[in-house]
Amino acid sequence: MRLLVVEDDDAIAVPLVGGLERAGYTVDRAATGAEALVRVAGVDLVLLDLGLPDLDGADVCRHIRSVSQVPIIVVSARGDESDRVLGLELGADDYIVKPFGLRELIARVRAVSRRAAPEPDVIAVQRVGRLEIDRRARRVTVDAQEVALSPKEFDLLSLLGEDPGAVVSRHQIMDEVWDPHWYGPTKTLDVHVASLRKKLGDPTMIETVRSVGFRLRSQ
Ligand code: CA
Repeated sequence: MRLLVVEDDDAIAVPLVGGLERAGYTVDRAATGAEALVRVAGVDLVLLDLGLPDLDGADVCRHIRSVSQVPIIVVSARGDESDRVLGLELGADDYIVKPFGLRELIARVRAVSRRAAPEPDVIAVQRVGRLEIDRRARRVTVDAQEVALSPKEFDLLSLLGEDPGAVVSRHQIMDEVWDPHWYGPTKTLDVHVASLRKKLGDPTMIETVRSVGFRLRSQ
C-alpha cells in the first residue's frame, strides 16, 4: 500500500515517514500543496496536513477529491469541532489532530482503507499451486491430501492466500489473525509459520520477506 504524506514540517514528516515505512507501507512525501497535487496520482491513501506553506490545505483536499476517490486523512494542529467538520465537508475520510501517535495513525489508516476498499472477493475454494484453501469448510489440502491445521494456522494461511505473491506485513498479520491492537513481539507468528510450513510439507510455499513479513508463493 502506497501512502502520500503531505507535510511541510521536516521535524514531523521525517519520523512519520520512517515509522510508516517500518510498519510496511511505501511512503511518498510532499512538502507543499503543489507537490501533493503532482504526487497524488497512484497512491492508495493521502495523509494531508492542512497547514501548508503555499496552498490552503482545504483547497488541496478539495482539489484531490475533485479528481480522485483516494482516501484522505486530514491532519490538523487544532482539534476544534469546526476543523473536524470542515475536513469532512471537504471530502476527507477521517481527521486526526496533532500531536498524534504513530499507532493511532496506523489504526486510522487501516480503518479508512478498509472502508474504502471494495467488497473483498474472498474466494470460498481457492487453488494456489498444489494448495487448496476451502474457506467455507476451513479445510486445506496439498495435492488433494487434507492437512490438519490449528485455527490460527488456518487463518494465517487464509490471509496470505487472499493475494498470493503479495507480502503481508507482520503487523497486519498480527492485527488480523491475533489481536487488532497487537503491539510487541511477534515471535508467536514465527512459531506458527514454522509449524504451517512443516504441515504443508513444502517450506518454500510461505516465503519470508526479511524484516517485513510473509507471502504465499503464487505458484
Ligand atoms: Ca504544516
